[in-house]
Amino acid sequence: MNNKKKQVKTILLLAGFLLVGLFALQGCKKSEPTEPAEPEGAVSATILQKTCPVMGSPINKDIFTEYKGKKVYFCMPACKEKFEANPEEYIAKLPQFKE
Ligand SMILES: [Zn+2]
Repeated sequence: MNNKKKQVKTILLLAGFLLVGLFALQGCKKSEPTEPAEPEGAVSATILQKTCPVMGSPINKDIFTEYKGKKVYFCMPACKEKFEANPEEYIAKLPQFKE
């Protein structure tokens, strides 16, 4: 009888570990997209860009998109849409794409 109790305890322990493991996995999956995959992300933290590539107006740091792993800033959301529709047309004006 004592042996069976031990088995139950072991099963409960295993189930507990499984649950913790599942939570840990889910936590990892959630945090993945927020972390930049490339170290280049840290470099683009210093904003080289001063003006909107679409209108030439000063940028708003809250309006940006990511193109080829680099952040591109705009003066207004409409410019972001224009850029996203045809990015190649505008990247020539962006310092972060000049090497
Ligand atoms: Zn603009």
